[in-house]
Amino acid sequence: MAVSCAMEKKSSYDLANVTSCDDLKGLPDEEINKRNQLGYVVESPIDDNICDNCQLYLPPTPERKCGGCQLFKGPVKEKAYCTYWAPRIEGV
Ligand code: SF4
Repeated sequence: MAVSCAMEKKSSYDLANVTSCDDLKGLPDEEINKRNQLGYVVESPIDDNICDNCQLYLPPTPERKCGGCQLFKGPVKEKAYCTYWAPRIEGV
């Protein structure tokens, strides 16, 4: 099977292409700065407050291996945390 556009320049970041959820390669600096400014850490210091139960978390899907966050681009781990954590409100 030939892939003819392998050299195509990627102009926008797409989380669906990420295969390792630790991989920040290709993320624009401004997006890395955003996660740093929000105090993102890959392991939450607060047991009950993790991305997986945050209202702003975007869980993985069949098409997208890694979770994400509505506040910045790039992979987000389910046990991670940032200072914008907000409890998920179920059923809304
Ligand atoms: Fe995780 Fe923070 Fe995004 Fe919530 S807002 S999903 S705690 S990174």
